[in-house]
Amino acid sequence: MSRPGYQRASSTNLANRPQHRSLEGKLAIITGGSRGIGAAIASNLASKGAHLVLNYTSDSSADKTESLSASLQAEHNVRVLPVQADLGDPNGPAHLIATAKNKFAHPKTGKFQIDIIVNNAGVAGNQLLHHVTPDAFLEQYNINVLAPILLLQAAIPHLPTDRSGRIVNLSSVSASLGFVGQTVYGGTKAALEHMTRTWARELAERATVNAVNPGPVATDMYSSTGADFQQQMKPFILSAPLMREREGVDPQEFVDDAKKAGGRPGYDHEIAGVVAMLCSEDAAWCTGSVICANGGFKFSY
Ligand code: NAP
Repeated sequence: MSRPGYQRASSTNLANRPQHRSLEGKLAIITGGSRGIGAAIASNLASKGAHLVLNYTSDSSADKTESLSASLQAEHNVRVLPVQADLGDPNGPAHLIATAKNKFAHPKTGKFQIDIIVNNAGVAGNQLLHHVTPDAFLEQYNINVLAPILLLQAAIPHLPTDRSGRIVNLSSVSASLGFVGQTVYGGTKAALEHMTRTWARELAERATVNAVNPGPVATDMYSSTGADFQQQMKPFILSAPLMREREGVDPQEFVDDAKKAGGRPGYDHEIAGVVAMLCSEDAAWCTGSVICANGGFKFSY
């Protein structure tokens, strides 16, 4: 049954809709956009027409981020600004917003709007309870928890005022599954999930606020976890419907590794697809949620 004012799109007029440029002209800030999941999110949003600010911190990522920015600009006709800023430094988030404003504010009117923020930068580390140190705690909480708070504080004056903004926080299945060794990391992601719910209320007139919770993803972060941790993942991977390896589809290294791992990892572009979905206009009625982006490693309920 059709709703009043709702006309079913024919295949012809669907084809005419410029869905591939659905974020045309929007400005997105992606923290940790140099590599891994952040770089994949950058590619996805740029392909939909969004201009980007790509943050990173390490000198070793400077060239990579410059060349990613240049190739996204050339391929998608968008503007991309790489910004080196250590978000673990309390001044880093404000510096990132100020640098973005400098580049993207309208030259005459000074108008500057941030449409999308993806809090993706993160660090992980596994320590058993009796090995947790104040330094490890502070490093992970500063980058994973305090930085998104300070970034949003600096961004608030520039968010839309019509609910069209989109904020997506990169959590993890670790927030809710209590893995051995993740006293600190799991806690940071649980804090981020909580903040997602609070911000959905506090920023309701400005932006939707959601989180996604990947499981194991084939990036530098996951490959740096040890064999013990990866064995701990195996029963979860075995029961995840979409993590079964596929001969001839998944890269052979993951097919070969599946006996040991229990299946294949997620790919960065698979997380990026879910993030992009939450950044779309169509996601306007979804806020305060943790959306599973983990192939069924953990179901939401
Ligand atoms: P990754 O490959 O290790 O990349 C981390 C990114 O964060 C890099 O761009 C890095 O920049 C940036 N970063 C780290 N510290 C920073 C700081 N102090 N200031 C600014 N940027 C900083 O990580 P990933 O696997 O793509 O993970 C991305 C997000 O997904 C993280 O929040 C992570 O917790 C979450 N996640 C990952 C997995 C997984 O299995 N990979 C699973 C669940 C959740 P540089 O290149 O400059 O170092």
